[in-house]
Amino acid sequence: MKANAIEIRGLTKTYSGRRSEPEKTALSGVNLDIPQGSVFGLLGPNGAGKSTLINILAGLVVKSAGEVMIWGFDQDVNPRQSRASIGVMPQELNLDPFFTPRAALEVQAGLYGVPKSQRRSDEILRLVGLEDKAEAYARTLSGGMRRRLLLAKALVHHPQILVLDEPTAGVDIELRRMLWENVRRLNEQGMTIILTTHYLEEAEEMCDEIAIINLGQVVARDSTENLLGRLDSKTMIIHPETRPARLPEAPGLEVEERADGALVVSYHSARTPAEEVLEAVRGAGIRIRDVKTEQADLQDVFLELTRTR
Ligand code: ADP
Ligand code: MG
Repeated sequence: MKANAIEIRGLTKTYSGRRSEPEKTALSGVNLDIPQGSVFGLLGPNGAGKSTLINILAGLVVKSAGEVMIWGFDQDVNPRQSRASIGVMPQELNLDPFFTPRAALEVQAGLYGVPKSQRRSDEILRLVGLEDKAEAYARTLSGGMRRRLLLAKALVHHPQILVLDEPTAGVDIELRRMLWENVRRLNEQGMTIILTTHYLEEAEEMCDEIAIINLGQVVARDSTENLLGRLDSKTMIIHPETRPARLPEAPGLEVEERADGALVVSYHSARTPAEEVLEAVRGAGIRIRDVKTEQADLQDVFLELTRTR
């Protein structure tokens, strides 16, 4: 069996409310194992608790309960070793505006106790394509460059695990490609990668395994292949010529009549080909004026996964 890079047991986080605000439970009883060497996706809608989980791993947020093992080190027993094993590229662009990229990397290396002889600031700047900007002030860097600098900072102490929190939210195509190439290369060199995203396609393209998190709980955890197989639900919206006398029926179909007269037919494309759906519609004597299909979006997927559990 493969060893785990991360083991999480019963992880709970309750933020105490500021002033009159109520307490907020961002994570409740999360159990999760992330195997060494994987590209692991933590997928979930905004507010699901992804950043909270990442920031607990990074040691930036203090958990309320539970256990976190990073590279075999219990975060509470060996905080220094567990921190040294992980590098985190945060979601927020929090950079000191007065440091140049090279200085920022040197300061970060100093914080992690990397001896001068083992620092590779120039190599890392080259990796993220910032070698030309090594001496530029951070405040003169574009958003994309800042993000690349954050990636560089996460790498200075040669961590075994790299965590990227929403690395491609709001970035242009070129930067997205650069980030993905870097992630793949680092993973090929043996680094375990964990990334959060709320884009299903991104998780699909990048990750070997995925956990879906919603409302502070893991609602699904599987290989990308298996998970996407479960997410093949589609919807066909059919506008009939005239109001149908009866609704189409076939195994695997769920049909609803909308207030505007359209029929909303839900089915799983792996089990029911579109042609069978159309046959069932015609079989009910319905003449089709217009038809379109929709993929299940992530929100539907969460609903489905939480319902069928
Ligand atoms: P995600 O990264 O999946 O969007 P977060 O972990 O940022 O989710 O947030 C999870 C929940 O915790 C949200 O409801 C959010 O409003 C709340 N939350 C996050 N950070 C804080 C904080 N510092 N204080 C209070 N509530 C917070
Ligand atoms: Mg987040």
